[in-house]
Amino acid sequence: MTFDILIKNGIVVDGFSNEARRADVGISGAAIKVIGDLKNATGGKTILAEGKYIVPGFIDIQSHSDSYLTLLEYPAQESLITQGITTIAVGHCGTSLAPLASPEALKSVQKWRSIAGANLNWLKFGEFLEALSHYQLGVNVASLIGHSTLRRGLLRDEVRPATPEEVQIMQRMLGEGLQAGAAGLSLGLIYAHETDAAGEELSRLSEMAGKKSRLLSVHLRSEGSHVVEAVEEVAELARKSGCRVKISHFKIQGRQNWGQLELALSAIDRAYQRGVDIFFDVYPYSTTWSVLYTYLPKWAYEGGRETILKNLRDRSSRERILTYLKNQSLDLSSVLVATSEANTAFLGKTLGQIARNQEISVEEALLNVLSATNAQVIVFDYNLSSGIMETMLRHPLSVIATDGAGYDLGYASLNGSLVHPRCFGTMPKFLSAVREKNLMSWTEAIKKITSRPAEKLGLKKRGTLVAGNYADVVVLDPRGVGSRASYENPYIQSEGIDEVIINGRSVVSKGQLTGTLAGQVMRF
Ligand SMILES: [Zn+2]
Repeated sequence: MTFDILIKNGIVVDGFSNEARRADVGISGAAIKVIGDLKNATGGKTILAEGKYIVPGFIDIQSHSDSYLTLLEYPAQESLITQGITTIAVGHCGTSLAPLASPEALKSVQKWRSIAGANLNWLKFGEFLEALSHYQLGVNVASLIGHSTLRRGLLRDEVRPATPEEVQIMQRMLGEGLQAGAAGLSLGLIYAHETDAAGEELSRLSEMAGKKSRLLSVHLRSEGSHVVEAVEEVAELARKSGCRVKISHFKIQGRQNWGQLELALSAIDRAYQRGVDIFFDVYPYSTTWSVLYTYLPKWAYEGGRETILKNLRDRSSRERILTYLKNQSLDLSSVLVATSEANTAFLGKTLGQIARNQEISVEEALLNVLSATNAQVIVFDYNLSSGIMETMLRHPLSVIATDGAGYDLGYASLNGSLVHPRCFGTMPKFLSAVREKNLMSWTEAIKKITSRPAEKLGLKKRGTLVAGNYADVVVLDPRGVGSRASYENPYIQSEGIDEVIINGRSVVSKGQLTGTLAGQVMRF
């Protein structure tokens, strides 16, 4: 027998619960043809995988490549394919790149990226997928529809509950988008233009995703002091709407809140036991990459950027914000200004350093950074517990995702902005933690980054190694796999991801990009 690609003598971990086994894998066209003993077969390309694991391509169910706009700027998504990621799902945290009811809809991107110069030539969701299919994509791409994108397109900058007519229009746009192939709906309940959406509005929209068996992905209303109520809110929303629900980038921020872990997890477990299809994604880092304005009290950022800047200028509002921040007992001094297009003066500095330089309090430094950057600034905050993170990685209802964005390998920010190392190293870092800390079996670890996210997303014929599936395949070195990306220098390729095959084509070979781009747009 002859195959386009023949992988010989590897150890197959197939994404099911099967034990790892020695086998060869034969691929022709876009599909896996045979998994078994192919001693006498030949291949157009032969990969010798002695001592290596052959696993399904990794599925990143929580990607921000769209809202960071890097999917359009760097469609090859090299920092992802070199991690072994073959499929991403974008459109999370309430924000997607379609549908655009008005140009204002795109404003929900602004908390991550400036939209000046973004030139998007689509309105409807189907048109977006069609346009995306003309990009040379490095990875397969699925997209959800963001609630804030729907809402912002109609209500523009107004902050208020939507009228029944507006809810109907949102329902119609969502319905069209789901019909055109969207993977589901996402909510970003912490963000300015969503916090006051009424429960009725959230239920109506979620029900539509539920009826079509699509995913509901939720950025919780609180990841700190109110995390337990936030989890309960989502569990209740999922129960009422019949949705399969994912809590995005689940974490508990702030040392003073870490004690809530057990309550938060038991709220999830309880919902699951009552039949709610609930799960969460988590990244293997104990540092967040957070939009700085979300540190303010809710009243101070309700209404978005203009309100924030106005409150920062107004003396009495400013005092109230400072008092609020001081009472939060957060460790703000180690918060590092990482990413901003608007002002580079503070990049790479901590709020503690800025406070010392300016001889002001650390709370005032935070407000000054917000003012100077037009509230378009993202920070690294070392406010997570690595113990909690490991508990979450191991939890039976977790999957592992980047919550990051894809870049080119040669990427180096023009203005000195830093990106979170998870954009370059999430999956290898997770696998090295599995090896070094014995977090779980390899079979379980591989399921958390392949078959489980595929099943939750509703992806067919991907996420497992079985004859007839699409040939999204990774060959990795279980002893050497790991990430080298750091907070100081995030732009470094992972190690130990030897071969990556997407839709039957070799995109990484012997650890190097081949230059082939083989990603497809996923429609549901
Ligand atoms: Zn989010």
